[in-house]
Amino acid sequence: MRPEALFPIFAPVTGLTGVGPKIGKLIEQLAGPNIVDLLWHLPVGFIDRRYAPAVAEALAGSIATLTVTVEKHQPSPRRGLPYRIRCRDDSGFLTLVFFNGREDYLRKMLPEGEIRVVSGRVENYRDDIQMTHPDHIGKLSEIDSIKTVEPVYPMTAGLTPKPLGRAIRAAVDMAPDLPEWQDAAWLRKQGWNSWQDALDKAHSPRSEAELLPDAPARARLAFDELLANQLALLIVRRRQRKRAGRPISGDGSLRERLEQALPFHLTGSQRMACAEIAGDMKSETRMLRLLQGDVGSGKTVVALMAMLTAAEQGAQAALMAPTEILARQHFATIEPLAHAIGVPVVLITGRDKGKKREELVARLKSGETPIAIGTHALFQDDVMFDDLALVVVDEQHRFGVHQRLALAGKGAAADILVMTATPIPRTLMMTAYGDLETSRLTEKPAGRKPIETRAMPLSRLEEIVDRLRPAIASGARIYWVCPLVEDSDVVDVAAATERHAALAQRFGDRVGLVHGRLKAAEKDSVMALFADGDLDILVATTVIEVGVDVPEATIMVIEQAERFGLAQLHQLRGRVGRGDRPSSCILLYAEPLGETAKARLKVMRETDDGFVIAEEDLRLRGAGEVLGTKQSGLPQFRMADLAAHADLIRAARDDALVILEKDPELKSERGEALRTLLYLFERDAVVKTALSG
Ligand code: ADP
Ligand code: MG
Repeated sequence: MRPEALFPIFAPVTGLTGVGPKIGKLIEQLAGPNIVDLLWHLPVGFIDRRYAPAVAEALAGSIATLTVTVEKHQPSPRRGLPYRIRCRDDSGFLTLVFFNGREDYLRKMLPEGEIRVVSGRVENYRDDIQMTHPDHIGKLSEIDSIKTVEPVYPMTAGLTPKPLGRAIRAAVDMAPDLPEWQDAAWLRKQGWNSWQDALDKAHSPRSEAELLPDAPARARLAFDELLANQLALLIVRRRQRKRAGRPISGDGSLRERLEQALPFHLTGSQRMACAEIAGDMKSETRMLRLLQGDVGSGKTVVALMAMLTAAEQGAQAALMAPTEILARQHFATIEPLAHAIGVPVVLITGRDKGKKREELVARLKSGETPIAIGTHALFQDDVMFDDLALVVVDEQHRFGVHQRLALAGKGAAADILVMTATPIPRTLMMTAYGDLETSRLTEKPAGRKPIETRAMPLSRLEEIVDRLRPAIASGARIYWVCPLVEDSDVVDVAAATERHAALAQRFGDRVGLVHGRLKAAEKDSVMALFADGDLDILVATTVIEVGVDVPEATIMVIEQAERFGLAQLHQLRGRVGRGDRPSSCILLYAEPLGETAKARLKVMRETDDGFVIAEEDLRLRGAGEVLGTKQSGLPQFRMADLAAHADLIRAARDDALVILEKDPELKSERGEALRTLLYLFERDAVVKTALSG
């Protein structure tokens, strides 16, 4: 049960005074349905209204709070002209200006002869001191609530700052005094206040510095959230581990035969990954390991080695791919290898129906087939395994292992290996998995040559074009990528078309063009010409980013590279360097270069390591953009900024480990407070299902 102290804030926002159904709906869209959601809606700026000069001294352009006597209303003489109200203090006159002002309302707010406090931007218009549409109008008795620093919140259409600000203030004032869940010494060391104080402070910034992620109030709130996240993950993992796995060791016979059958030697990091996986499988606890490696780094063989380990022991393994095509591709790679060493493999996808499917399913149920490859169809109710010991999940570029963990239910204590080509920074992985073990394939398979990367200003374009001729003469094929000019593929296509025309003038009809507006068949046929060597240069928009493999292509020119993100540049560059000849990548940039762009190009020149690039990308852009957080399957955070708070993620992980070591069921005094924290960040399920009492 949710702690009672949290009831008031886990109530609909419409429970706040001044928040009716209409505003409530807008707030719900903006922040969330409950009062607690408003607590997490932090300001992005502030307006300082403490400047309260005499009227004549008010600086034009500044926000000021002025105390004036209302002298005379001058209603709009005709449509289109403003309603003006003349006011004064001892120093001079102030004109309040209202467009489309309603007379009855204005006379009520600003009665002639009365003193009023107005706050807003002061302007000089001709010789007049003016304020157009003051943000606040109040009586002298209200001056203290007007003459303050006011937080500025992210808004949504239809909502105005005042009711939102009031609702959030009311929510912050309602925040209960909760028992401290953080370690006292840690709080002192960080210089952090209580949760209540931190909330209050985060919602009343007084300087730019207080808006930054590392401001003490914000850091404290972020750490709370991260600790809740890490605790929840660890508690669930411990629970999973308790359902003991079983040791799978195999005798190595099939793996040995596979190694002999392979036309290449495993790389050092493939060997290392195989050993790490074998170690996990052999242990009593269930494996949950991530295998990371760029596309082409050789994950499939590693997965097959793991699956053979299960087969050696007479158990079964399943590999699940996110799409039908990928499942078939895996099958096409794995089946011949397994066949060569006498291990049967079945492919199960949604496409197989009726008798065929029944037959395949029967072979898994009887245990006759040790290895199954497929889509999620593998885990439909009619598919049963005799003895499923290992589940390999190929995440490719998506990242959403949470729901997939359920799949291991098919095998009572199946080990899980997740493969991903997305080089996710370690800190981000921690937020998704806690203490998930990782194997990384960092070496390129033998025979791949490094790619020489250079950055050059666009002004040297002619020079580069000149150098293509001898390269082509010696057999090079060239990708020429044109930039994403705007969010419009029409403009992109225009840029690419223009470049294509210019290059065709120099190189004739051996220059091709692909872009997103071509039909799939047209695209494929141009690509095929390039792959077959009938084109020397392929001008392209970013459509070539995915799924092209032309080992003969050795030069990649990226025009206006400063416009691309790091991850994208890395993907694009990965299109060359696939054959046995040295490759190069030329990053053409338009001057002047901004700081971030400069940093990005530097990273590209210095490293080819997808993991380093991912870390840098995270640092330069922030987590949301790196992964497109929504689709990424990573947990969403309200307070924590995964790029800015990387250190806090690590600290939260360490703290959670220590906490659970000492108090696995969260029964101590701090443990009780931590349960409240879990509820506060809506990890209810963890408390309910994975903790006793
Ligand atoms: P990933 O799944 O990581 O994208 P794959 O497993 O599909 O990569 O491997 C890409 C290609 O490299 C395959 O053709 C595979 O046979 C080959 N390969 C894998 N390991 C090695 C190696 N150690 N040496 C040479 N080629 C390898
Ligand atoms: Mg692959």
